[in-house]
Amino acid sequence: MAPTPSGPALGELLAELQSYGVRVEDTIQARRGGAGPSDAGMIRVEGVPITFPFTADYVAESPYVLRPEGPEEGPGGWGVYREGRRLAGAEVPPRPRFYDMTTADGIPYWKIALLHLDSLASTVIQTCLYWGKDDQCRFCGIELSLEAGRTIPVKKPEHLAEVSVAAKELDGAVDVTLTSGGTRFRMRALGEERIVETPLVGRHQAHNFAFTLALLDAGAPAEPPDGVRVRRSPIVLASMAGDVENVRLLLSHGAKASAEAAAEAVTFGHADVLAAL
Ligand code: SF4
Repeated sequence: MAPTPSGPALGELLAELQSYGVRVEDTIQARRGGAGPSDAGMIRVEGVPITFPFTADYVAESPYVLRPEGPEEGPGGWGVYREGRRLAGAEVPPRPRFYDMTTADGIPYWKIALLHLDSLASTVIQTCLYWGKDDQCRFCGIELSLEAGRTIPVKKPEHLAEVSVAAKELDGAVDVTLTSGGTRFRMRALGEERIVETPLVGRHQAHNFAFTLALLDAGAPAEPPDGVRVRRSPIVLASMAGDVENVRLLLSHGAKASAEAAAEAVTFGHADVLAAL
């Protein structure tokens, strides 16, 4: 058997697999689209985790082939080949066992979270206020999985906990990634409830000023109220982020130019924030 690559040679091979894609000679567990990684085969090559394209048109021209092989070829059960020559051993993870389970209220676990090698992932809110609008992010497929019936709109905390435990115990999941579509933020201030047109995630940074202003206008204090402990006050966070507009806004609403805020501005190199403080 030819020697298997390691070090820079293995790195070069992995980069080529990701660039050219890999033609797969059998069925593998993989993602084709929707929220999360698209057109992504997920395998280990010589023990190194890697994702690679395998359904895009250009992959038909790739010189690389992923081929099932017998135990005599190696322990992983698969090999990466180029022009008939075996380059490396590969391991294709089996279908996770927790995919066969359902919640007590009848939801298949695989509709709640998916396993990417040993990393569990879930889109907690599968809709986005930008979806179908002119300013929808062009790369995003968040609602495609929903339209295809491969997931549910909202994952409850108890469902996520149940699935996470099963994924860890049955399939060796070691971490969890949670994402969400942009959603409206319902806030309460001075007893008034308003809907703020600001997504909680995704692009909230771009709307940060408007969001802070809306909170302050609704009566939210610029400093944490007495007796409320927070890890970092709003002005410290804005100083860390170099968000000089918000720093000025908070100062104008009574926030204190604290030594901690100044220290963060210095640490992160935000001279304009330091000057504003
Ligand atoms: S804000 Fe997030 S979920 Fe919404 S369209 Fe953009 S990337 Fe997709």
